[in-house]
Amino acid sequence: MNASTVRYGSLRIPLSSQRAIDEAFAYLARDPVGRSLIERLERSRVGHRIVIDHRHDASYLPWSHTIRWDPTSAMRTTDGGRQSPALGLAHELDHAAEPERSFDRLQAIELPRYDDAEERRVITGSERHAARTLHESARRDHDGVAYRVAGPTAR
Ligand SMILES: [Zn+2]
Repeated sequence: MNASTVRYGSLRIPLSSQRAIDEAFAYLARDPVGRSLIERLERSRVGHRIVIDHRHDASYLPWSHTIRWDPTSAMRTTDGGRQSPALGLAHELDHAAEPERSFDRLQAIELPRYDDAEERRVITGSERHAARTLHESARRDHDGVAYRVAGPTAR
């Protein structure tokens, strides 16, 4: 994995997926909370990176400060709503932007529907806010079924 990378401040992204990430960032930046998440990661003291996945994996790996993101994986929510791949990226950006101590503390608190308190923080916080601004579906649990779409903002 020595592919060329581009730096947005302290955030490192693969050059080969710069267009998809730019498209997702421009879309998310229409929401003030989404915009502030992007800015926080770009100005973070800790360096993070985005790695592209093609198997519907959106996740944050705290030990390596790595966000895995599939730019063509959208999600159908439990309520039958839809979320774009970009909204999934915002969700992972929020996990990454959370200070490590708080992330660890919240993740250790198990909760019904949301798995843990860190997921609930993200889903009922930035994810819900961005979903409303961008006219996407909000979730009331930490669940969903992935499906394929053409690009980051499709659903
Ligand atoms: Zn999450």
